[in-house]
Amino acid sequence: MNILAIEDEPAILRMLERGLSARGHQILTAESGEVGALMAEDQAIDLVLLDISLPELDGHAVLARIRARRPSLPVLMLTARDDLDNKVRALDAGADDYLTKPFAFEELLARIRALTRRADQQQASQLEAGDLRLDLLSRRAWRGERSIDLSSREFALLEYFMRHPDQVLSRDQILFAVWEYDYEPASNVVDVYVRYLRRKVSPSGEPSPINTVRGAGYRLDPSVVESG
Ligand code: CA
Repeated sequence: MNILAIEDEPAILRMLERGLSARGHQILTAESGEVGALMAEDQAIDLVLLDISLPELDGHAVLARIRARRPSLPVLMLTARDDLDNKVRALDAGADDYLTKPFAFEELLARIRALTRRADQQQASQLEAGDLRLDLLSRRAWRGERSIDLSSREFALLEYFMRHPDQVLSRDQILFAVWEYDYEPASNVVDVYVRYLRRKVSPSGEPSPINTVRGAGYRLDPSVVESG
């Protein structure tokens, strides 16, 4: 697992580096909030250990930046003392857990395991492609922050596209996957539903991620995201 530690105390950073790499993790480190926030936004990080008291950009500000760009990235806050206010603030702002320094390394490992399990479960129930996101349990859909109200057939159609991003899907493939037995091969039901879906995904006529591939079918292009 790739773990990013954002911490300005070199001794703690060294301890984390040694201990976590000895357990087979890749550990990346940042000694300032600014550098740490950039790394969390741009690099393949699975979990962040984030000190609250950092010079300049503090842990709360770094957390806000991470949450804006990567809402589901697990973040474990490290607090220097038993500072209830800071802990409550961090949890309210979307930290997943916190640990008070000094801590036993075994406890840190246990918290990391718990957060990773939680993140895995969440991932299994959510599907993402570009700025589209589906929650398969609650059957809800979003484009960016905007929620999309879909019928169950539209949801199934979008889910099928999102499970096959960047692939050309023929009308027959879509009919079989989404309508199962309940279809007439010659009907234009796929085109009709793709039209419904496009209208809901791009209600103001912005570019649609669902492209028509002439003579072949449709393709979801996850790189088409809503601007703004
Ligand atoms: Ca510190």
